[in-house]
Formats: sequence, C-alpha cells, structure tokens
Amino acid sequence: MIEAIVVFIFGLLIGSFLNVCIARFPQNQSIIRPRSFCPHCKKTIHWYDNIPVLSYLFLKRRCRFCKKRISIIYPLVELITAFVFLFLYDQFGLNLVLFKYSVLFFLLIVVSSIDIKYHAIPAYLCILGIVTALFFSGVYTLEAFRKGSFGLNSLPLFHTLKGLIFGLGFSYLFKLFGDFFIGIYLTLCKKESIEGETESLGLGDVDFMGMIGAFLGVKAVILVFFLAPFVALVYTIFALIFKKSHLIPYLPYLSIATFIVFVWGNDIWNFIL
Ligand SMILES: [Zn+2]
Repeated sequence: MIEAIVVFIFGLLIGSFLNVCIARFPQNQSIIRPRSFCPHCKKTIHWYDNIPVLSYLFLKRRCRFCKKRISIIYPLVELITAFVFLFLYDQFGLNLVLFKYSVLFFLLIVVSSIDIKYHAIPAYLCILGIVTALFFSGVYTLEAFRKGSFGLNSLPLFHTLKGLIFGLGFSYLFKLFGDFFIGIYLTLCKKESIEGETESLGLGDVDFMGMIGAFLGVKAVILVFFLAPFVALVYTIFALIFKKSHLIPYLPYLSIATFIVFVWGNDIWNFIL
C-alpha cells in the first residue's frame, strides 16, 4: 500500500513535469528555465502553489495573483499520468520495461494534450518516441545475440522495424485513399476546400502510428487504427448528451485506443479471429 502511494505520488510529479512540456514544447521554450509561471499574468508560481492536484484545489482553480481560471487540463494530466505510471509499475516492476513503456505513455499524454490545445503537434515528439523504441529493441537485440539467438524472428529490432514501417505505411496509404475520396467529394459538391477539412489524416497521425508500430508491433497498429473511431464515437455521444463541443482532434482517441490495445490487445485480437 505504501509502495503504491509512493509510486502514485512520483507519477503525479512526473505529470507536473509533463504539464511544463505541454505548455512549452509548442512555443519552443526551455523546459528547465524559467520556473513555472502563470500563463496569464506571467508571475512565477511559488513551490507551495505548484503541488500536483492539491494546489489546484486549494487555490480554488484560480491563479493566486490574477485570479484567472487555471485550466482543468493540468490536474487531469497529473492524475492520468499517476494512474498510468502506477498501472505500468504494477505490471512490470522497477526495470527497463517499465521505463520503455513509461516513455511511450508519457509521450501519448503530452502529444494528446498539445493536440487538444493547438490542433497540431511538433513532429519531433513522435520521432523521439520512434528513436526510444529503436534504442530499447537495439538493447534487447544485443542481449539476444549474447544468448546466441540469431534467427530473424527472435530479434526484437526486426519486429520494431516491421512495426514502424507498417505503422507509417498503413496509415499513409489510408491517408492517400482518404484524401483522394475527400477530393472527389469536394469536387462533386463544388465545395471550397477548407484547411483541415480536406485531410483524412494529418501527417502527425501518420508519425503517431509509426511510433505505435515501433513500440507495440503490427497487430497493435491494426487494432488501434480500427478501435480509435469507436472511442471517438463514444466521446461524441457523451459530448452530445452534455452539449459540449465534440470538435477535438484525433490523437487523444488514438492514444486512448492505444492504452486499451496495450491492456486487452490479445483478447480483442483473439475475439475478432
Ligand atoms: Zn496569474
């Protein structure tokens, strides 16, 4: 129990750091300096006003200085990060695998939040994920060599490359077809092309699927790809009931689908087959 609490608190602190990344990556600001500041009045936030989740509650969701609303995204990111980290720790214990999948899911949280806020993501984030996946499978491949297994199928690097190429290729083909049919539709209806509405998938989504393939393999790409629209549908129904805007970008759905596939992927795959 104490172990779980310590891991959870550590997860909250990582979430707090991810918030800094989410706020600063898109603006090309350093994530180390300056210290955290209010996005409205730019005043430096005291350490005691920067405690994950708790400060948000104590400050009654407002900045101490300018009284402007603090976005609910901040505590949500901290809580989601903590729960995901606790889940991964419970699955793998304290080792390299925990580190590998933590990088994946922390990237998913950052990428989804930036996509919600800015409707675009910096390309280097998914590339960072792909490099991380290649690094870990390189390490495992060396280990496999050391143990004397040289068969292509037993080499992690082979599976990572296969997943990466499949993830990029599959989603890029989908994008080409999708864009083609949207193009026909726009021509037939004589509609003006509005930016963002003429693309079936953005290039950010293609990079994202490459990252998923590199980390989780070919099967996961297929499952995530077909599961994400259902996640989006559930959210849309929810949004219609509560009359909230359902115009949110696609990466959060892909991320939620990835988590579902990570946990139940094999069950879903066997169920479908
Ligand atoms: Zn302020």
